[in-house]
Amino acid sequence: MKQEWDTVRDILKARLSKHEFEQWFANARPLEFSDTRLELAVDDDFSMKWIRSNYLELLKDILWELYGKHLGIEVSVNRHTPQHAQQHDNTSRTWGLTGRYTFDRFVAGPSNELALTVAKQAADLDASAFNPLFIHAGVGMGKTHLLQAIAHQVLAQGRFRALYVSAETLVNEVMNGVKNHDLNAVRRKYRGETDILIVDDIQFIARYPKANFVQSEFFHTFNELHGSGRRIVLSSDMPPGELPQLEERLRSRFEWGLVVEIEPPDRDTRLRIVQEKIRREGIDLDPDVIGLIVDRFTGSVREIEGAVNKLTAYTLVRHVKVDLTTARQLLRRNLGGHGKQLTLDTVANAVAQQFDIPVAELRGRSRQRKVVLARHVAYLVSRDTMDAPLVDIGRFYGNRNHATVISGLRSITGKIKTEPELERAVRLMEERLAR
Ligand code: ADP
Ligand code: MG
Repeated sequence: MKQEWDTVRDILKARLSKHEFEQWFANARPLEFSDTRLELAVDDDFSMKWIRSNYLELLKDILWELYGKHLGIEVSVNRHTPQHAQQHDNTSRTWGLTGRYTFDRFVAGPSNELALTVAKQAADLDASAFNPLFIHAGVGMGKTHLLQAIAHQVLAQGRFRALYVSAETLVNEVMNGVKNHDLNAVRRKYRGETDILIVDDIQFIARYPKANFVQSEFFHTFNELHGSGRRIVLSSDMPPGELPQLEERLRSRFEWGLVVEIEPPDRDTRLRIVQEKIRREGIDLDPDVIGLIVDRFTGSVREIEGAVNKLTAYTLVRHVKVDLTTARQLLRRNLGGHGKQLTLDTVANAVAQQFDIPVAELRGRSRQRKVVLARHVAYLVSRDTMDAPLVDIGRFYGNRNHATVISGLRSITGKIKTEPELERAVRLMEERLAR
């Protein structure tokens, strides 16, 4: 995360005046930097508002150029600066949580309604609820989203303590506790310092090589929490009875409360998920294009999000509405298997042909205007049709570095905006390649 942020900082430094950079970004730190989202923490309210209203577009551009993806950006005030150290206790527990995984951003439908209802019950520590609550589903179905929503909700009320953790982290902490002869500190954390323990991907503890020890630790943690009326929420990729190496005594405890499944979303739910997402992104997609996404991405919500992200990015960068052909082509890789496997070579050949110059020249050092233009088009097409990383593109075209590719892409995307002919030519070429 640090390394990625450093790259972004370098680009910011280059584009802003020294004063601007020092003023707004010198102290900014990434809280989250994933492939869908960057969350920045700054020192005070004013900086937060200033960055939000003046630098979001620039940040978006930079992230697009680096990763070829449209990332969501959020800016918040750093609650973890030393002067707030006393407050550490409760806020530090939100550390591993993703800000947008809240109940109000979870789209309900028949496939997840029961899980959503009981998750909300679990988050209300004043009322009774199934204990433990065990939610299972395949990948990308919203387990993590729901579990974190519970933690957000409990913490937002400020009256109870919530601890959200992935089973992997839990296992690592237990094993480190053993190694450092400090297992008691780990036990205190999990058994003594929370009113609700939320463990994501619990299947991990059954598949861990030192499973016996870890499972017995968790068994005692479970008993102590449950016995003292505290709440436990678990998620898994399978129901307890199907987890292969899970000890019998844990399996039966996992079934004490309620076991509920999130099923793949039906068409109507998928449709509402897409609509909700594009509404938040503030973009407009044709009904046909939405239909394509909803009909073709039936497996998981994560796939649906990936498809929408790709189209959003394209719309924002090209400033055009995506038509059905373009959408098909852009989503070809996500749709799987059908399109040709494109390579940098194929793209280079197509561009060379279109501009009527030898491939060797395109890939060489020539600074002739026509060649430079063609090369920039080649960068763009390589990135858009095959998602090629900028580093690879640079290496392929005359061993240039990724900064050179970035500036080429900036130049060509600027040109395309003002030259419809060029835009059309690029699009035709991309379509031909897609076939
Ligand atoms: P899992 O943990 O089951 O693999 P996640 O909770 O990580 O799945 O969900 C994958 C992505 O899909 C997340 O970005 C999540 O916000 C989104 N998502 C899943 N289900 C829904 C839903 N019902 N409404 C809105 N977004 C959802
Ligand atoms: Mg998950």
